[in-house]
Amino acid sequence: MRILVTNDDGIESEGILRLASMAAELGEVWVVAPEIQCSGMSHRISVKRKLRITERGLPVPGVRAFSVSGTPADCVKLGLQHILRDQKPDYVFSGINDGYNAGFDIAYSGTVGAAMEGLLNGIPAIAFSNEHVDKNEVTDHYMKSLALEMIEKNPLYDRIWNVNFPGCTLEECKGVLWFRRPGKESFYQARYAVTETPEGKEYELMSIPSTEDIYADSSDLSALINRYVSVGTVPCSVIRHPMRVKT
Ligand code: MN
Repeated sequence: MRILVTNDDGIESEGILRLASMAAELGEVWVVAPEIQCSGMSHRISVKRKLRITERGLPVPGVRAFSVSGTPADCVKLGLQHILRDQKPDYVFSGINDGYNAGFDIAYSGTVGAAMEGLLNGIPAIAFSNEHVDKNEVTDHYMKSLALEMIEKNPLYDRIWNVNFPGCTLEECKGVLWFRRPGKESFYQARYAVTETPEGKEYELMSIPSTEDIYADSSDLSALINRYVSVGTVPCSVIRHPMRVKT
């Protein structure tokens, strides 16, 4: 199996190293990721702008890695056409994102956008995200076996897999819940921090984890708040009918 690994937090993020290391246990891995932090870019591509590809050293044995001076979706598009070329990957893995991609936040996610770009190119894809905490032992414990299960359940012709890992300890984690639907809220409450500067006010988006235990539905958010791993799917906004993934 050949796997294209990408993300939206940039090639220097810790999450992509962990994902590439896991993927390397499953097959041949190519990493193509943004040079810089690209969270919140959704499925954006670079238009009327020139992109650069740079081969990078990554401390994962046997893995070739490249950075692209563009968006997460650019990485997949350019990676397929100009890095992997005729070596078509069997899967796109995107992540591991530093922070959940659940509920409304899926709409903004560059991690999900890159996975969607894989799907539009006929390649099934998985988006991996975990809660923003220092140590994610739940992710490390479940990530590989869940990846294998998602691949086994596979053919997702019009949607991607979206998996989120809670930031609790392995002991606190209650297990895995499958086929969770995106919740009708954001886990992270988006608030702007306002700073006064000589040039006027500046506004910076802050993501504050929700502390309200208001989720009791069958959503991804309720799974995560109740300390389960959430596995779900996200339908592609343009593929309205199941299409055959080209193999
Ligand atoms: Mn991100």
